[in-house]
Amino acid sequence: MPLHLNTAGLAPVADRLAADLAALSEYADPDAPGWSREVFSEPYRAERVWIRDRMRDAGLETTTDAAGNVVGRLPGTHGGPPLVTGSHTDTVHGGGRFDGIVGVLGGIEAARRIRETGTHLAHDLLVVDFLGEEANRFGISCMGSRSLAGILTPGHLARTDSTGLRLGEAMQNFGADPDRALGLGWGANTMHAYVELHVEQGPLLEQHGIPIGVVTAIAGIERLLATFRGRADHAGTMPMGQRHDALIAAAEAVLTIERVGCGAPVHGVTTTGRIESSPGVYNIVPDEAKIWAETRSVDHTWLSGVRHTLAGQIAGEAAQRGVEVDVEWLNDQDPVLASRSVQDVIAQAADTLGIPWMPVPSGAGHDAAHMAHLGPMGMIFIPSRGGRSHCPEEWTDLSQLVTGTHVLATTLAQLDGSVLSP
Ligand SMILES: [Zn+2]
Repeated sequence: MPLHLNTAGLAPVADRLAADLAALSEYADPDAPGWSREVFSEPYRAERVWIRDRMRDAGLETTTDAAGNVVGRLPGTHGGPPLVTGSHTDTVHGGGRFDGIVGVLGGIEAARRIRETGTHLAHDLLVVDFLGEEANRFGISCMGSRSLAGILTPGHLARTDSTGLRLGEAMQNFGADPDRALGLGWGANTMHAYVELHVEQGPLLEQHGIPIGVVTAIAGIERLLATFRGRADHAGTMPMGQRHDALIAAAEAVLTIERVGCGAPVHGVTTTGRIESSPGVYNIVPDEAKIWAETRSVDHTWLSGVRHTLAGQIAGEAAQRGVEVDVEWLNDQDPVLASRSVQDVIAQAADTLGIPWMPVPSGAGHDAAHMAHLGPMGMIFIPSRGGRSHCPEEWTDLSQLVTGTHVLATTLAQLDGSVLSP
């Protein structure tokens, strides 16, 4: 860290951060639970005009790019590949006031403090409010960061919602330029570093009483759809031992999936989110059932191994019931490791400020996973009360947000002068 840097001076102004958080939470869909601000909605549109104005007030040059990312730029003394921070301000339906939001407001406040304290960064500093990070009705997440990473595809834009509207049309209606968004990718090694402040959305930091998490990796996700085919029979006459009940086989698979998650030697979770059976009446033994499940881990080896393990166990158990099963896997995302050197800089920044930290995995997906295509990536987590997220009860204390923003600003200043590796 440059010796002239007064890290205490980069402490955020708590009242200003609190006022921004309160003002932003006013933009919410009045007809939805919690603080709902889904991508392409009116509250989202209005709130991002407000974000752009806050960036301007903070002294940043603002643009909205073809993918609908709102970008604030603090010019550096030497230019070159930019230092980037940011997150998202869209929410899930029935969401809270912190997921994503703290990374955008914290990023703006960090840039404001860097400017106000006369701290001159060599690199341009970009604060980005990425378009639509949450999974949306078109079945895609992280649209803005995918575009910057060059992995938004015509296939994504052709996806439709339940009304038949194409994603490309929805983006256009929102004022973005989907065709240009396809070619917006910055390219590899075009970014000095990316660091994102985010709420943990899990309970580890709170349980350990530690205010800062240095993210080691973002979990990969493998999804499965298993279809079980048995035999329909009269529910009153077919003896228990002679049935080929597809729903029982599916239920057994749900428990197997849970058991495999519980037995993960590393960070690993498994979830079955949906089960269906047919014909779906009281008096017929079900002849078909489907389950939709996912597994997540930061460990690539475990995650790819689990596909094989689960497919084998589910098929074996179903076979004992005379039920056929067909398992389809969909790789949603591979695990993404955070840059070792960005992790070190975040840890040093926390140490410099005397703030305890611990390494943590991210079980949730983030824009950071896509920005990692462009240069060294890291994330700073702050605690979530009770580990709750994607619900109105989501909560992080202002003092925790202030601490996280201070670590973010200090990290950005230190990253500016650091030579980094992936
Ligand atoms: Zn988020």
